[in-house]
Amino acid sequence: MTRTLAIANQKGGVAKTTTVESLGAALADLDASVLVVDLDPQGCLTFSLGHDPDQLQASVHDVLLGEEEIADVLLDTEDNVTLLPATIDLAGAEALLLMRPGREYALRRALAEVAEDFDVIIVDCPPSLGVLTLNGLTAANEVIVPLQCETLAHRGVGQLLRTVSEIQQITNPDLTMLGAVATLFDSRTTHSRDVLADVSDRYELPVLDPPIPRTVRFAEATASGTSVMRGRKNKGAAAYRELAENLWKHWEAGEPMRTFEGAAV
Ligand code: ADP
Ligand code: MG
Repeated sequence: MTRTLAIANQKGGVAKTTTVESLGAALADLDASVLVVDLDPQGCLTFSLGHDPDQLQASVHDVLLGEEEIADVLLDTEDNVTLLPATIDLAGAEALLLMRPGREYALRRALAEVAEDFDVIIVDCPPSLGVLTLNGLTAANEVIVPLQCETLAHRGVGQLLRTVSEIQQITNPDLTMLGAVATLFDSRTTHSRDVLADVSDRYELPVLDPPIPRTVRFAEATASGTSVMRGRKNKGAAAYRELAENLWKHWEAGEPMRTFEGAAV
């Protein structure tokens, strides 16, 4: 059975793309066959995985509009995951999709055609709650919300959770909110913990274990276009590996996801 996981938060810079790339690489290292989907017109995931969005002939945009077969658009990557890439064309897809019936189902329909080739599909949602994110959430079985542990991290979380519950009522009754993952976490101060405790309390949102520490390695990896998981050992990569193992146990053995007790008040 293929597991489709959406990584969503309408706020930019909370490590959605980093989470998709790192979990994808870590799950591939666990021998899962992994497809990652770039749903952001900025194409950051595509770029991070070694493909220049400006050089691509076809992308997820053409797939969503029914102009290309998904299988013809998939790319291999150095991370050992398969990529459904994005280009800036995708910025126009919102408007074009809006005129179509069943617009929320375009990605779900496309993924169904290749799902049997993959154990895991991870969708990198754009920083908005527009029709692309609705497509990501409609295609997914589960959703994780990366949350940067800063003051006011909670702003927008309520709106995101309302969108998720609307999706559950309208286009995807089987969607499960797995929880938040704390990103850019600073364990040396109590501030990150306080923010997490506040958010998980306010919204009854589980915080998954482990938190992902802030480390300069991620910025370096993004800039050089190489995966952080391939670089020298670092604590951010180790945390993503642990999260990937927890996900894998959850999927394969039906274990509940471990939650981060440090977030409790
Ligand atoms: P989003 O997709 O939510 O916009 P990104 O994954 O692009 O967020 O991350 C935003 C920035 O934060 C990037 O420059 C990335 O390298 C950096 N970053 C992500 N995770 C970490 C981390 N754990 N430590 C340090 N920097 C990080
Ligand atoms: Mg991103």
